[in-house]
Amino acid sequence: MSTGPPFSAGELEKFSYCPLSWWLGSGSGDSSSSEKTAKGTVQHKSLSSDLLDLSANQESAVMYSRMIMYYALISTILAILGVSLLDFNGKQMISRLFLLLAVIWLVIAGSLLYLAYMRRLRIRLVEKWTVYMAVAAVTSACIAITTLQVNTSFAQIMETASLLWLVGASVYLHMNITAENSAEAISGARNVEGKVVYVGDDSHPVLYSRDGMFSGKPDFIVEEGGRAVPGEFKSGRIPAGPLFSHIMQLSAYCKLVEDNYGARPEYGYIYYGNSKHTIDYDDEIEKLLLSKADEMRKCLKANEAHRNHRRPGKCANCSRREICTERLV
Ligand code: SF4
Repeated sequence: MSTGPPFSAGELEKFSYCPLSWWLGSGSGDSSSSEKTAKGTVQHKSLSSDLLDLSANQESAVMYSRMIMYYALISTILAILGVSLLDFNGKQMISRLFLLLAVIWLVIAGSLLYLAYMRRLRIRLVEKWTVYMAVAAVTSACIAITTLQVNTSFAQIMETASLLWLVGASVYLHMNITAENSAEAISGARNVEGKVVYVGDDSHPVLYSRDGMFSGKPDFIVEEGGRAVPGEFKSGRIPAGPLFSHIMQLSAYCKLVEDNYGARPEYGYIYYGNSKHTIDYDDEIEKLLLSKADEMRKCLKANEAHRNHRRPGKCANCSRREICTERLV
């Protein structure tokens, strides 16, 4: 259990880089200010804006896809009702044939819907075929009316209504494709896959761990295979591989995701530019994370922190170098 205010993931990143850097910058324990500073760059604002757009387009696409299916199904049902009411002047075999075809198409459309929701098929494929089935059913009904020259006004009204619902389905299909194309463009440009469920901007709350030890706002959280997975973008110089301090920060986000989204993520993502790195989150890394938090508490208790490395390169790139009494360069 926590014995003090939570450490932000941004603080953990600084401490893991150099305890003294954390102490000189945010060692006061003001986790909110350090998190804000970490997220306050122009790049992060642009990133958040893109991710919010991505999330909005993904949600719109799902909503439009539902509307497509409902409209197409209603259109199909109306077409079937219309055909069933027609008087084919004794041509019962033909009437039954059209009815049978329309019912078959309706069953196929219904099955596609079931598969889409139960087995998570690609929704766009299902939508298209649902509309195709509806088009086939309505076309069948219209052919029955025009070529057989039947004249049942109620049936014709049904077919007209069916056509109008089909137009509605087509409009939603167009809107869905537009939203999906926009989402895919942003997803490709940012190299972010999966459904965005959280963006680390002002509109989303700070996450806290259940034990009160950690807090933070990852740049984003995506849903992949039913699990939430955090991601963090790093601006500035691009290292040869993920840095330890960044891995600690991401591990803190993994813990926050585990406590707030109900399932432990097995990994998270760190981005340097457009380069995406998958970082495992296992028991070992969690132990390391907890030991870092323990070290931070000891520093707070002792009211001091010191350099723990002999790497001049770290000091050369450190933002606290000018005020640091232990710097190496
Ligand atoms: S200048 Fe070096 S010793 Fe000082 S805070 Fe930065 S990394 Fe640590």
